[in-house]
Amino acid sequence: MTVRLRFAPSPTGYVHIGSLRTALYNYLFAKHKNGSYILRIEDTDRTRYVEGAIENLISALSWSGINHDEGIFVEDGKLVQKGNYGPYIQSERLHIYKKYIDNLVEKGYAYYCFCSKERLDEVREQQKNEGKTPMYDRHCLNLSKEEIEKKIAAKEEYVIRLKVPKDKDITFNDAVRGKITINTSEVDDQVLIKSDGFPTYHFAVVVDDHLMKITHVVRGEEWLTSTPKQIILYNYFGWEAPEFVHLPTVLNKDKKKLSKRQGDVAVSDFKNKGYLQEALVNYLALVGWSPKENKELFTMEELMNEFSFDRVSKTGGVFDVDKLNWINNHYIKQASPERIAKLAIPTLVESGLITNDDIKNRFEWIVQIVDAVKERLNYVNEIAEHVKIFFGNEVQLENQEVYDMLKLDHVKNLLEVFIEELENVEDIDEEFAGSIFKVLKKKTGVKGKNLFMPVRGAVTGQLHGPDMGKILIALGKENTIDRVKYAIENHI
Ligand code: GLU
Repeated sequence: MTVRLRFAPSPTGYVHIGSLRTALYNYLFAKHKNGSYILRIEDTDRTRYVEGAIENLISALSWSGINHDEGIFVEDGKLVQKGNYGPYIQSERLHIYKKYIDNLVEKGYAYYCFCSKERLDEVREQQKNEGKTPMYDRHCLNLSKEEIEKKIAAKEEYVIRLKVPKDKDITFNDAVRGKITINTSEVDDQVLIKSDGFPTYHFAVVVDDHLMKITHVVRGEEWLTSTPKQIILYNYFGWEAPEFVHLPTVLNKDKKKLSKRQGDVAVSDFKNKGYLQEALVNYLALVGWSPKENKELFTMEELMNEFSFDRVSKTGGVFDVDKLNWINNHYIKQASPERIAKLAIPTLVESGLITNDDIKNRFEWIVQIVDAVKERLNYVNEIAEHVKIFFGNEVQLENQEVYDMLKLDHVKNLLEVFIEELENVEDIDEEFAGSIFKVLKKKTGVKGKNLFMPVRGAVTGQLHGPDMGKILIALGKENTIDRVKYAIENHI
């Protein structure tokens, strides 16, 4: 059997990283089994409609490298659908839902309900006062065909409800949580078709998962309580239910649901800050799933090979930004300086450090300064702080330690020899940068800390920092000479 999995988000305008993880697990399992991964849009809640949301969603997914085989795609700025089970947007499937709801009504498994909101509120209020669980009182369950037709002809508003069998145990298996049984006595007669004619999530999801031949439904655990209602529908239709896999919620450090109020939760927040897609995906894979070996760095390919549901945890996965930063730093170190430079340009422009002319005329130099500092970054947008040392040719000393270091007796001579060496070359190249400290040591007899620190202090104003060779290359001959002369004149 070829497996078919789907990610079925509602287009709300942004993609929560918890949703991205759901998409990822669907994708990884489908690919692990050589099956298909489908993107379906669940947009039946028209009150939540957001312009451009589907395009945003697809762009976040494709940035993440979670590419679907079937469903909705964006081509030349337009939405297109591909696959044999479309349409893949629920709002375009109303005619299909109509056919299936008529079938349920005919069989007596669903019924029209004309109750007004006021009446429903009253009933609910009364039930609450009596200490009962608020539930629809089935007022409309036994309306005759004629009564229904008359009301519809009179344009009375209605919904269609599921007739939930009373006091029945519904059992299903969840790949993460095992066997789950829920008694229907507490299950309300769920609305299947709303008064605007659109299906509810519960109805559409079952019809679509069946018609699209979905074999595994992988989704957040917030849908666990909805599953019995969906099982009832599968039973009424006589369809085989797919396998269910409910994923633990992504939590913050306080073990609460990760929410917008606490900061970054949207995929675009992370992208815009300069998290690399391979880092975000690698990290998210580990939030709620543990690999066999104690390994933390995975390529998408490796995740596909290793992923299985039996290693998904039952308890919520904690989203740990420090760990994400560590993983992101690893991938930034591995990435080419050109790639990081391109990602860094917007923040460098915004912080006023570079201009559009620099981008056009000095891209190589931007790459050099990025190359010098990138290994220190948790995410790309931290870069402005780190590259400040490359700007200007009069360097301010960072703290007293630097002053003290430059005041040591041997420093003036050391820096003068350094200037001589600089003046002897056309510009600073790899060779110069790689040998200059050896040359200075030979010529002055100074070594170790006393050699490296004053040079770094004079050139950058700091005693610690990125690789000195890379710094010298990025600064170039003239700027380095200016800086060292300034240090000699002002700090020695
Ligand atoms: N549309 C639902 C959501 O936004 C999908 C739930 C499911 O996968 O069944 O999460």
